[in-house]
Amino acid sequence: MYMRETRPPYCLLEPEAKKRQIARDYARVYLRRGKIQRQPCLMCGSDQAEMHHEDYSKPLEIRWLCRPCHLAVHSGEVFVSFEAAA
Ligand SMILES: [Zn+2]
Ligand SMILES: [Zn+2]
Repeated sequence: MYMRETRPPYCLLEPEAKKRQIARDYARVYLRRGKIQRQPCLMCGSDQAEMHHEDYSKPLEIRWLCRPCHLAVHSGEVFVSFEAAA
């Protein structure tokens, strides 16, 4: 008997993790198709930015944040007014 190495199917993920995964998959596809442009970090201008979703039910609403800024936003240390920055 042998087991294939696979990603867990979506149905096994927590609802929140599932939404996050779907949002990321969407974003990746759009990025590849050029529908989304890679941008520098919103907060510090670093070109090492990664995608941040404000709302996972809106996979195409992406904010670009570098890792340290991204972590700070998620930890609640920083509040960014994305509306003003847009
Ligand atoms: Zn940054
Ligand atoms: Zn994020």
